[in-house]
Amino acid sequence: MNVNYICSRCHRRFAVNTLAFKCECGGAFELEKEPPKLSLARLKSRANSIWRYREVLPVVKDENIVTLGEGMTPLVEERIFDKEILLKLDYLFPSGSYKDRGASVLVSKIKELGIKTVIDDSSGNAGAAIAAYCARAGITCEICCPESASAGKLVQISLYGAKLNKIPGSREDTAKFIQEKAREVFYASHNRNPLFMEGTKTVFYEICEQLNWKVPDSIITPVGYGSIILGIALAGRELKDMGVISNLPKLIAVQTEAIPPIYEAFTKGETKVTPLAQVRHTYAEGIACLNPIRG
Ligand SMILES: [Zn+2]
Repeated sequence: MNVNYICSRCHRRFAVNTLAFKCECGGAFELEKEPPKLSLARLKSRANSIWRYREVLPVVKDENIVTLGEGMTPLVEERIFDKEILLKLDYLFPSGSYKDRGASVLVSKIKELGIKTVIDDSSGNAGAAIAAYCARAGITCEICCPESASAGKLVQISLYGAKLNKIPGSREDTAKFIQEKAREVFYASHNRNPLFMEGTKTVFYEICEQLNWKVPDSIITPVGYGSIILGIALAGRELKDMGVISNLPKLIAVQTEAIPPIYEAFTKGETKVTPLAQVRHTYAEGIACLNPIRG
């Protein structure tokens, strides 16, 4: 599948190997691609990884696929508050989180573009996932994070062989540093690059396939920058357009009370999210995002 970036605001097009990570107008990139086609009959003989949905993933040649066998995580039945629910166990991924979905697709495309060095800014699961898949692909990877980031994930990122660059100051100082550096090195941003969501969308393909292509009533998902919920929405549109499913689930986003910018915009009926200024402590640090880029 051949693809371009397209600005979500002014609709300007960019080649996917551009060093730009957003449009000059400030708009986030979306992916422009041909309508996907998927043959359900072919799935039976395929491996249990996200790459079983090969035709809907934006990598042209099979030889460029960077995989660690990620995907088709269990869907486990449970009763909570007298409701029957299903839990999707995405912590069972090679690097420990669903971010492997996005990293596998993004790093595969980076390999296909012949890019040898990348940077990203994350002190958590995304940094670990990008580092793991870059190690698999033989791509040099530098992960930038605030000096104050907690130790556990940093050890994991270093163990994968990524260069860890601790930036003094706040999270904002790290963001400034990386935007400067991204003029020279490809910024493999899990938040800005829409190729990442092409991977996270596979969670909804899997859920539907595991339910024999029935759509669940509702999906509840934690939201920081929103890469799971946006991936689910994207996959829902694709599957409906292809005629595989006929309805969409209700999507329920959950934020932490400490840092709820999307919740606040949603409850006020606003269509744009106002970034929050102040960092407040939360144990849910993976979704503690003050400024969701695709809010
Ligand atoms: Zn633009």
